[in-house]
Amino acid sequence: MSDRTPIDVARNPADLRSWTHAIRTKGQTIALVPTMGALHDGHMSLIAEAHRHADVVIASVFVNPTQFAAHEDLDTYPRAEAKDLEMLENAGCALAYCPSVTDMYPIGDKTRVTVEDISFILEGEFRPHFFIGVATIVSRLFIHVMPDVAVFGEKDYQQLLIIRRMAKDLGLPVNVVGATTIREPDGLAMSSRNAYLSNTERRNAAGFSQALRHAVHQLETGQSISDAIATAYDAIGQAGLGKIDYVAVRDAEDLSGLGDGLLPSGRKARILAAAWMGKTRLIDNMPVMRK
Ligand code: AMP
Repeated sequence: MSDRTPIDVARNPADLRSWTHAIRTKGQTIALVPTMGALHDGHMSLIAEAHRHADVVIASVFVNPTQFAAHEDLDTYPRAEAKDLEMLENAGCALAYCPSVTDMYPIGDKTRVTVEDISFILEGEFRPHFFIGVATIVSRLFIHVMPDVAVFGEKDYQQLLIIRRMAKDLGLPVNVVGATTIREPDGLAMSSRNAYLSNTERRNAAGFSQALRHAVHQLETGQSISDAIATAYDAIGQAGLGKIDYVAVRDAEDLSGLGDGLLPSGRKARILAAAWMGKTRLIDNMPVMRK
């Protein structure tokens, strides 16, 4: 016999609001973990982090159409609701918020949230629609749930910075917390999209994170940014990733450029990359700092 509390599921904003109202009436705080489902241990680590910041944890499970371009994988994005709910329940999540598309995007919807500048570099250069979709859905989830805390993965580092900026600019009373990236034993960052990889692609994909780790080592031991990036391009190509969208070393706070020379000593930086393994686009990033 399990002594777990069964997870509640709210499928529309009205049910969600009566649930959160009851929680707030008891004086309890709420943490939200937004997800697109097809959950893995990376998502579970966000639930665990959320428990450290609030009394109850809500996860949203919603595949957000506005962050997919017409040619992208909205229709084939993995969906596994029964398994997701079981994993969330096992992780002690109290409520899953699983709204419909029309709950999040009412018929005739015309409103979008754009965080200027930072949404159109790096990922935004290759997926210009993406962060508008993300900021729009996350602002709506924040308005529906009104969480005290929201937890996002550093796996999507640029997204984390954009949500922080948006919450600050809109004056939303939510503490945006970042959580470290959870990896497979060979170093590949966990991702719902890893399910697209063939066995061979999956084996080779380890070379992507290994290339970034090597670049971190180079940068921290005094090699130039341009040399570290050039070596990473070669290594990622040799691992069988066909098209490399970008490899960049940027300031960790605002993703501004740091030039081609030595990484400034003591500056918190981040190496970020995106590349294609066959038809699957992988992204990853790591912290880097030269003492
Ligand atoms: P997604 O379902 O891919 O939209 O991701 C939902 C949340 O989980 C986002 O905040 C992601 O950054 C986070 N996430 C995804 N993969 C990982 C991972 N491997 N480690 C930690 N967090 C992750």
